[in-house]
Amino acid sequence: MKNLLGVTLEDLTTELMARGESKYRAKQLYSWIYQKSVYDFDAMSDVSKAFREVLKNEYSLALPSIYRKQVSKDGTVKLLLEMEDGAKVETVLMPYSYGNAICVSSEVGCSMACAFCASGLHRKERGLTQAEMMGQLLVMNAILQERGERVTHIVVMGTGEPFDNYDNVLSFLKCANSPFGLAIGARHITVSTCGLPEGIVRYGMEGLQFNLAISLHAPSQEVRQKIMPIARRYAIPELFEAIHEYEANAGRRVTFEYILLAGINDSLEDADTLANLIREYDIFAYVNLIPYNEVQEKPFKRSSSTAIKAFADRLMKKGINTTIRKEFGGDIDAACGQLRAKVMQKERS
Ligand code: SF4
Repeated sequence: MKNLLGVTLEDLTTELMARGESKYRAKQLYSWIYQKSVYDFDAMSDVSKAFREVLKNEYSLALPSIYRKQVSKDGTVKLLLEMEDGAKVETVLMPYSYGNAICVSSEVGCSMACAFCASGLHRKERGLTQAEMMGQLLVMNAILQERGERVTHIVVMGTGEPFDNYDNVLSFLKCANSPFGLAIGARHITVSTCGLPEGIVRYGMEGLQFNLAISLHAPSQEVRQKIMPIARRYAIPELFEAIHEYEANAGRRVTFEYILLAGINDSLEDADTLANLIREYDIFAYVNLIPYNEVQEKPFKRSSSTAIKAFADRLMKKGINTTIRKEFGGDIDAACGQLRAKVMQKERS
């Protein structure tokens, strides 16, 4: 049965018109699902009984179920969600002062195998459908609804490489952004990639105002390929040329995500190399420094607060806009993929 969640309004209109329905039927369904949070076709009172039967027999609006839930003292909510086939993925809600941001997973497991990442401990089993990504958001919205709030920002930065599952990710985001859908502002939506040049260029040609973040995590080819295997396939020059092309086409600046690992990529020389790299390719960028959440199975250590601050200061002195990411969920399994990895390990043993 096809799950209609996360399908773009355009695709839904085409699908329903092919069944002889009027072109307004898709907007009607969008309104029930995204504005009224109704996932039961029988409750859609302005849809004819005959067509509700068709919907019930051939389509679904099934949401993932909550397998584990962790709530931090700071308000962070981490869910391990179970999909219809039993696959489990993590979703995190981060309560910022400006709104509620959800970190969405795009794949079950991840094959990019970044050396520091708990999500990469389990290889990719499959990409998530647009319905499964929208399901993550709608489940989180239901939790927030209890206190009269909703998700206001989306980052596709959970488990998985979004550009490895490009079409489904874009369908989900266009649906979330649609004024007839959840109407989440384009500038409140960010896709984060570990650096697939083809995806970066394609994304820049979409004509969308969504944001792009690049998980860079190293200032040089030598260090990057040690901690991110993808760098062996796409070296820094190829990656940066793609980013340059993205900026030219999209007219948007990128954010570089940079996890600071003690003794690996956090020296002042590394900061200088990073600043020079950004300047050399004439990239208009922010750098977002991320204090590392240590993962038991990984050898990496978190950089000290002094080292993080010195790194940030050095970049700013070199004219690079830099922020240090606010930390969430320190008292729960904060690292990306940690909760899923723990649960899977326990279930196996
Ligand atoms: S950091 Fe992202 S791309 Fe790398 S292994 Fe983890 S989930 Fe995959």
